[in-house]
Amino acid sequence: MAKRWAVAATDALKADGLRIGELDTSGRPGFTGDKKAGTELLAERALVLSDLQEKLYANGRSGDKRGVLLVLQGMDTAGKGGIVRHVIGSVDPQGVDHAAFGVPTPEEKRHHFLWRIRKALPRAGQLGVFDRSHYEDVLVVRVHNLVPPTVWEPRYDEINAFERELVGEGITLVKVALFISLDEQKKRLSERLNRPDKYWKFSAADIDERAFWPDYQEAYQAIVDRTSTELAPWYVLPADHKWYSRLAVTELLIDAFERLQLDWPPAKFDVEEQKRRLAQA
Ligand code: ADP
Repeated sequence: MAKRWAVAATDALKADGLRIGELDTSGRPGFTGDKKAGTELLAERALVLSDLQEKLYANGRSGDKRGVLLVLQGMDTAGKGGIVRHVIGSVDPQGVDHAAFGVPTPEEKRHHFLWRIRKALPRAGQLGVFDRSHYEDVLVVRVHNLVPPTVWEPRYDEINAFERELVGEGITLVKVALFISLDEQKKRLSERLNRPDKYWKFSAADIDERAFWPDYQEAYQAIVDRTSTELAPWYVLPADHKWYSRLAVTELLIDAFERLQLDWPPAKFDVEEQKRRLAQA
């Protein structure tokens, strides 16, 4: 276990039995250090993550079909973008398959909700990142009645079946939901309105969505209750402290990669022979 974690992130953040409404969004479950210690550790652990990701990539190039998929969910300003930039940003971009899911296009709307998701799955050897995901189809869609309950209700089972299939194909899922408090969101939205370098992140609709906070919490609770499975568990992250959520996601990813027990792929050529040839070249 990495230093300063009293309890491994995988245990401290498991969603099992969790009441979303009771979550302390300013907490740092499992971690005993302060911001300085967390930031230092993040820099150290990013190197470990980068090394593991390179091993997965190398194995992918040698025929290994496995991949890792990070699924990121969270209310606006919860820090999904920061995770992509600061955690995923620490690994080699050529090994990353990134996909962000916004309002479905007219074409996407004509298909089953998993259609666009399947198209964006990570290729063999890649670290996939979903910034929002198929879970929007039981979040925003449920909260705003974009389809009737008879349509969204069966989606939980469909999602579980879909994820079972992915795991069967060798994809390790790391599902992370980031939670901030309403106050923290107000602070972050206000920053977007007060800093010209953040205007581009602001959306007027984010303010309207605040009125639906309890509905979103209920929808997230249903997700955690119904789609956190042994094969594809949810991790619930308090995200008021950005340094903590970034460190926690790094640890969750490291754990996922370590479970793959990756090694460098063996040479497909005779090393000694090639050394001899090079010496003479
Ligand atoms: P972000 O807000 O993450 O920066 P965008 O502005 O591109 O990204 O849009 C995300 C928006 O798309 C969110 O409001 C989200 O609720 C919405 N969205 C995502 N998936 C769906 C979906 N399946 N149906 C309806 N709206 C969706």
